[in-house]
Amino acid sequence: MNEFQFPPVEMPENASALRASVRRLVEQEVEAGRIVPQSNCWSIHDAAFSQKLGQAGFLGMTWPRRYGGHEKSTLERYVVVEELLAAGAPVGAHWVADRQSGYQILRHGSERARSSILPRIAAGECFFGIGMSEPDSGSDLAAVRSRARKTEDGWRISGSKIWTSGAHQAHYLIALVRTGGAEHQRHGGLTQFIIDTRQPGIDIRPIYNLYGGHDFNQITFDNCWVPFDMMIGEEGSGWDMVTGELAFERSGPDRFLTSFPLLRQAMAALVHDAPDRVLHDQEAAVLGRLISHVMALRTMSVSIAGMLEQGAQPVVEAALVKDLGTAFEREVPERLRSLLPIEAMLGDEHGLDHHWGMTMLQSPSFTLRGGTREILRGMIARGLGLR
Ligand SMILES: Cc1cc2nc3c(=O)[nH]c(=O)nc-3n(C[C@H](O)[C@H](O)[C@H](O)COP(=O)(O)OP(=O)(O)OC[C@H]3O[C@@H](n4cnc5c(N)ncnc54)[C@H](O)[C@@H]3O)c2cc1C
Repeated sequence: MNEFQFPPVEMPENASALRASVRRLVEQEVEAGRIVPQSNCWSIHDAAFSQKLGQAGFLGMTWPRRYGGHEKSTLERYVVVEELLAAGAPVGAHWVADRQSGYQILRHGSERARSSILPRIAAGECFFGIGMSEPDSGSDLAAVRSRARKTEDGWRISGSKIWTSGAHQAHYLIALVRTGGAEHQRHGGLTQFIIDTRQPGIDIRPIYNLYGGHDFNQITFDNCWVPFDMMIGEEGSGWDMVTGELAFERSGPDRFLTSFPLLRQAMAALVHDAPDRVLHDQEAAVLGRLISHVMALRTMSVSIAGMLEQGAQPVVEAALVKDLGTAFEREVPERLRSLLPIEAMLGDEHGLDHHWGMTMLQSPSFTLRGGTREILRGMIARGLGLR
């Protein structure tokens, strides 16, 4: 049986200074009433906040300067990202672009795509959606049916995507579509394209979620145009491209910190705001377990960031952290039932009851998005040599 490796990692020397500057920026925004800390904050769209992060140098952090980046290390970026998530700052507008689309473009995009798009992402002014799932292919991504046809002046795309988060606010999607015919195997004949969402032939319709919010969409493409130099990688390389993209999508602290802001607010109410109150043994045990769990997940997640920095591809370790981490994120609002003397409900967005109610309604999606637990466990079993 194979074994997992999670080598220990030293955080960069400037980690404390970086942390302090992120905290300062978030505090200023909270005090000015411009943002309200929330769980699941990487789904909250706030273009003005993204621009502030861009101006502060917190986006495109690891990319070359000539593309608007800051040539920092993966671990320095990790510090910034985990601080923003732990604080519950609204980072949803730029999230996909900064986490994965920009890397795809940097590694596999044309020079025009790099020079025209990356500086805008790093400035917090250009947002992306992920065009993978289709009405009949979610877990089975290789079954996508949307198709691109080569013409004299570029590619023409027709088909449909579903569950596309933020597509209604995104400037572009990176979409996986079929370019090869029946002669190709399922994983062959697929290609990724950068699709401009602001063009005729694209219809983006909302799908409302459990709390009535509009986060994701169904999209139809009717002969949409993509210039030749907006292809990612080579024609037919889409499966390898999408696998590499998923490694970025699955490995970060967003896969275990989604409900951490709620845990923080609950702890403040239970402990810090009532210093004379003594926790019961059962309360202390629940809180202690949650905190030690989050610390263990963080140690594993930082180790993955360290491996990525070394150029490794810890795909199975990332699947393990996502599986354990998203289970943890879902557990937090459930566990609070035995601790908080209030009911979870929607109302004043500053209230703990609202924060809890929203997290409760969002949490079923935590273990689905980015690949379900069953799919990840299949990968983990394969990685361990068990299947
Ligand atoms: C909040 C949210 C945001 C999302 N955002 C995006 C986005 O921006 N872009 C995008 O492309 N997609 C997005 N998705 C889609 C997400 O990636 C899919 O929902 C997910 O991959 C599962 O696909 P599906 O919904 O088609 O379910 P199915 O694949 O139909 O799965 C249904 C059930 O069967 C199980 N199952 C399927 N195959 C197997 C198997 N081989 N072995 C064992 N069990 C299996 C699954 O685990 C699941 O429980 C989002 C989803 C959510 C919930």
